[in-house]
Amino acid sequence: MKKHNFNAGPCVLPKPAIEATIEAIRDFDNTGIGLLEISHRTPGWEKVMAETEQLWRELLNIPEEYAVIFLGGGASTQFYTLAANFLNKKAAYLETGVWAKKAIKEAKLYGEVEVVGSSADKNFTYIPKGYTIPTDVDYFHITTNNTIYGTEIKTDIDSPVNLIADMSSDIMSRPVDIKKYAMIYGGAQKNVGPAGATFVIVRKDLLAKVQRKLPSMVDYKTHIGAEPRDNSMFNTPPVISVFVMNQTLKWVKSLGGVKEMHKLNQKKAELLYNEIDRNKMFVGTAVKEDRSIMNVCFVMAEQYKDKEADFMEFAKKAGMVGIKGHRSVGGFRASIYNACPLESVQALVDCMKEFEKLHG
Ligand SMILES: *Cc1c(COP(=O)(O)O)cnc(C)c1O
Repeated sequence: MKKHNFNAGPCVLPKPAIEATIEAIRDFDNTGIGLLEISHRTPGWEKVMAETEQLWRELLNIPEEYAVIFLGGGASTQFYTLAANFLNKKAAYLETGVWAKKAIKEAKLYGEVEVVGSSADKNFTYIPKGYTIPTDVDYFHITTNNTIYGTEIKTDIDSPVNLIADMSSDIMSRPVDIKKYAMIYGGAQKNVGPAGATFVIVRKDLLAKVQRKLPSMVDYKTHIGAEPRDNSMFNTPPVISVFVMNQTLKWVKSLGGVKEMHKLNQKKAELLYNEIDRNKMFVGTAVKEDRSIMNVCFVMAEQYKDKEADFMEFAKKAGMVGIKGHRSVGGFRASIYNACPLESVQALVDCMKEFEKLHG
């Protein structure tokens, strides 16, 4: 039976990217040696690294003054790395979920943290508004898409101080005005590849301004080469993850880039939210204006609470995979990242309609 993958991450990837990777694992770049066994100094590999960086620049229109690097350790490693690099005295954070809380916790190791807005009072079902960003802070940190709660900051906000964004789960889902950010980072495994690589887009002139000494691996400058071919090559890069990322970005490009991706994502999200709002058995958990186009969270309506396990079973039988909500929200979460096809969203919607006919 056809499976529809709604996993939150790692998650569905474009088929052509997977196929190209399988081929490269057998034989990389006609070298007669597989991708898992080459040296990362192989000229063919340096070409892949440079090309991947170029694809990022092209797709997101990243200006020259920003470095684009790929590191290990996941987005979680960036929580303390970015604070080590940018936090002298005080930083401001927006608390919009578990990932934001974790970022705050790590930043506190390096200085004072002012939480300027929080939606913890309503289990992170909305994005705080009307907060003031202080001007006496080193940076302001946001999480643009809250993977667990299904809320999203959908526009590039104006900040009077350096803006740093965790875009782990909505990068490449829409065009981004890079110039509004000092730094953007995230784990690859939600929208641009498998786990292993972490992308960091950082304005180079802001680096080396912090007062503390940094271990080499923690200092972003270490990973920016004197020559472009040395970028992300200080230590062995996450080769396989970067390769799949390269292929995934080529796929995004072939579909018309992030603008087209955004249209398709909006269409998928609208289809699913419309059904949640129409179907009397389900309700969405996030406030409408902040609904994420990547992670769609919903629960059974009050009078159908006892049907949750039944729907889970029903959906599973229809081929739905990974729709169980995070334990802190409950119910269901469908992650409909770039590579999740419209037909999978339609299949889930059909499944919800069918369930309503039988039990509603
Ligand atoms: C998944 C996720 C993370 C954690 O990423 P790791 O690469 O596993 O450390 C951080 N922030 C957001 C928004 C996420 O969705």
